[in-house]
Amino acid sequence: MIKKLIRKILGTKSKAARDPNTPVVLGPDAHGIDPRLLSNNAVRVTSTLQEAGYEAFVVGGAVRDLLLGVKPKDFDIATNATPEQVKRLFRRAFIIGKRFQIVHVMFGQDLLEVTTFRGTTSANAPKDEHGRVLRDNTFGSQAEDAERRDFTINAMYYNPANQQVLDYHGGIEDIRAKTLRIIGVPEARYREDPVRMLRVVRFAAKLKFAIEPETGAPIKVMAPLINNVPAARVFDEMLKLLMSGHALACLQQLRKEGLHHGLLPLLDVVLEQPLGVKFVTLALDSTDSRIHAGKTVSPGFLFASLLWHQVLEKWTAYRASGEQTIPALHLAADDVLDSQTEKLALQRKIGTDMRDIWSMQPRFERRTGKAPHKLLEHLRFRAGYDFLLLRCASGEIDAEIGDWWTAFYEGDEVTREELIASASTPREGGGGSGGAGTGGAAKRKRGPRRGGRNRSGRGEGGNADAPAPVHDGGAE
Ligand code: ATP
Ligand code: MG
Repeated sequence: MIKKLIRKILGTKSKAARDPNTPVVLGPDAHGIDPRLLSNNAVRVTSTLQEAGYEAFVVGGAVRDLLLGVKPKDFDIATNATPEQVKRLFRRAFIIGKRFQIVHVMFGQDLLEVTTFRGTTSANAPKDEHGRVLRDNTFGSQAEDAERRDFTINAMYYNPANQQVLDYHGGIEDIRAKTLRIIGVPEARYREDPVRMLRVVRFAAKLKFAIEPETGAPIKVMAPLINNVPAARVFDEMLKLLMSGHALACLQQLRKEGLHHGLLPLLDVVLEQPLGVKFVTLALDSTDSRIHAGKTVSPGFLFASLLWHQVLEKWTAYRASGEQTIPALHLAADDVLDSQTEKLALQRKIGTDMRDIWSMQPRFERRTGKAPHKLLEHLRFRAGYDFLLLRCASGEIDAEIGDWWTAFYEGDEVTREELIASASTPREGGGGSGGAGTGGAAKRKRGPRRGGRNRSGRGEGGNADAPAPVHDGGAE
């Protein structure tokens, strides 16, 4: 028992005894990076800096991806040159950031982020009452820069000139063992910056790495600290998580870590609604596929999907209390956006996009007269239509309505007129119903000749033809 304890202490010691100031240096044979995965511009930046007498390396996620044989989506560069010194060397270079300045170097559309080595968090760096570091902007040595990075696999430096990888924290071993390990004492690192807990989940899901037990253990207890982080930062990290191409896996991992509770109101909503699960799963699945296919994904569409079932629930409640269909939808959207905006710092543009997508939905049920043509001209039609298809696929509404719109969207003028004519004939069982489980809405059929059943006694039939107040303000 005692021997075991001693071994354990020595064992831990030997790991900690790896001198964090002296990196392990790996040559091309040892690390096996394929130099063709490197972007020309990354090499251009490092060689320009080196020719001017500075140190310069590719760093962070790009080195991790190179070691995994994946083409990095962007390249960060770390150097001992100051931002001013970097800026002088490039024609299109911009110093950004107030607290810690970094340099954006542009070549055409390609943007590279050049960061001066940062010093380790000093004990007297200003912190909030929970220990979160508020400002810590000193420059430092490369070893210090490595120490303040989050995970061992994100703290390696690659020099394209001599093709060497510098590894200060055993990142190579962890990459090989597919292990996600935080640098330093996990509790302390999460306290300094609680966003790192979200990053654990994102990387574990994206890379399919196991979370090293000590790295994972404090998360459940410390998760509420995320609430003290400025909403805009949490939102940025959330967006990275959702746009990682592994959104579904990330959300499943959040659930596994018990992180969905209280971490973000959005996730509480998304992961706890039995009715919404199928819809959200489909939405995230299609987002992941789009990202893998190199297509763009709009954050507005993504968040509109994540929160749709919350909107549906409130929409139904407002209608039940006597509001008319369209105003009820807007009230529901207001409630949902308000409750999420505070914690999530949803940018205005994203909020506008979400509202556009939601408020287009009832308009898809109007398939007579000029209404379908008008809707087709809507700036955000494509997003609204894709959203409609998700609703069909999830079983929330009848697939027939999606098929009709696909035929209308793809059809020529003759086909479109025929479709409108067919929609004008009363059908049995066709048309859109309200949301799954939305009670009164499910029973209501909005056809041209039918007034909706109206519990409040206010005429609702006219609603179907009333123009939906779509907010076009922020549309592209
Ligand atoms: P991705 O490929 O998803 O962009 P990444 O590792 O490049 O992954 P970024 O958010 O772009 O992630 O961050 C770049 C690097 O900056 C990381 O690899 C890590 O070294 C460091 N870093 C980022 N965020 C933190 C943080 N919260 N704490 C410590 N280091 C961080
Ligand atoms: Mg990155």
